Amino acid sequence: MRYISTRGQTPAQSFEDVLLTGLARDGGLFVPQSWPSITGDQLRAMRGKPYADIAFTVMQPFVVGSGSGSGSGGGGIDDATLGRIVTEAYATFDHHLVAPLVEIDPNRWVMELWHGPTLAFKDVAMQVLGRLYDEVLARRKERVTLIGATSGDTGSAAIEAVRHCAHADIFILHPHNRTSEVQRRQMTTVLSPNVHNIAIDGTFDDCQAMVKQMFNDPVFRDEIAMSAVNSINWARILPQVVYYFSAAVALGCPDVPVAFTVPTGNFGDIYAGYVALRMGLPIQRLVIASNINDILPRALNTGRHEMGEVHPTMSPSMDIQISSNFERLLFEAFDRDGTAVRSLMADLKSNKRFSLGEKQLGMMRNIFTAHRIDEAQTLDVIRRLHQRTGYVIDPHTAVGVGAAERESNDTAMVVLSTAHPAKFPDAVAKATGHRPALPQRLADLFEREERYDVLPNDLATVMKYVRGKLK
Ligand SMILES: *Cc1c(COP(=O)(O)O)cnc(C)c1O
Repeated sequence: MRYISTRGQTPAQSFEDVLLTGLARDGGLFVPQSWPSITGDQLRAMRGKPYADIAFTVMQPFVVGSGSGSGSGGGGIDDATLGRIVTEAYATFDHHLVAPLVEIDPNRWVMELWHGPTLAFKDVAMQVLGRLYDEVLARRKERVTLIGATSGDTGSAAIEAVRHCAHADIFILHPHNRTSEVQRRQMTTVLSPNVHNIAIDGTFDDCQAMVKQMFNDPVFRDEIAMSAVNSINWARILPQVVYYFSAAVALGCPDVPVAFTVPTGNFGDIYAGYVALRMGLPIQRLVIASNINDILPRALNTGRHEMGEVHPTMSPSMDIQISSNFERLLFEAFDRDGTAVRSLMADLKSNKRFSLGEKQLGMMRNIFTAHRIDEAQTLDVIRRLHQRTGYVIDPHTAVGVGAAERESNDTAMVVLSTAHPAKFPDAVAKATGHRPALPQRLADLFEREERYDVLPNDLATVMKYVRGKLK
């Protein structure tokens, strides 16, 4: 498989190149040159199969070498290696189904995506990504330095994914005293020598700005072989396509259609559902669930995509005003016209907004609906579900369940549950009166030794620190 840029000005690349570079040089995002298709018979054959087998079938056509890449096998991953990677990645999950379904209403299910090491759905992709990095870097005899900023979930998932990586060092910047204690400890109690946690005296935006500045310093970037742990890497989207298949097949696909509701921030998770649809999975509808940071529902309902201010909420992983992966959907809505996407992105950069035409809106509305769930509604959803069934969900999942309640249940509806409730105990306690307990594997989190350094909000100091640690 070869990958092209959504802005049309980068030559096609192999899977391996896309994995290591992340963003295309023209500023666009990589998408596959064509959509592989899965037949009805292949779907039926998935019934009852282990999750890792379904992962292999779905991912394989996207990672095969193209015959002209730079790595062995044409810049792809061979079948035996892919099989080993998905088996190992999903063995770290503490539920044998990996992504089990729980029925909460007639014809309405929740898919628990948080059985991985850090209790959020980002593990599903990160556990594969870390192993892909190790495989490709070992083969190339190269090392990379991953640097990222986090307000919580991404940092811990990335650290957990590369803690055993022999070919990568990771530096994660988090805002000092501004993450929850669970989130901080999930990062700082990983004591592997290649893991470096930095608490910055500043905000998440300060951390993010410093990472960007380091990236934009070509001397520093080359010196340390810097790579980003960002959510726009195609290799982070791909493993998320798999659970749309596992859920749909468990509910009777391809003989009955299924709909999905997805709590959305950067549009990565729901875009993975769109990929499944393009591969031939009979998805009847994809529902975008937003908190009060509702740029996507506004764009879909009015045609105007306008950035506002970011408002902090109980579902912080969705407190986003630019959904980077939306660009991948725009590319399809414009029939893969990179020039059109480039001009919209230029509008967004200079005017903080763009407008969608009737044709593009029509394409999107055929597949997507979108709802905004505010803070009071989020709490109410958690409270009502708990009262009625005893089942406890986190605030991100609650935004999803709230959005699904606004859709008819004539089609089976699967709501993606993106975090374990114990990751956001304050909101859950406020709604239910009970603090959810951490699962067994993290039960001793508060007794574990922590290691991190507090640094001032100063770029030169942070760069010196990184160089010093890599010596
Ligand atoms: C990252 C995250 C999301 C949003 O996912 P996107 O792919 O950015 O849309 C939702 N919920 C949780 C718990 C997350 O960590």
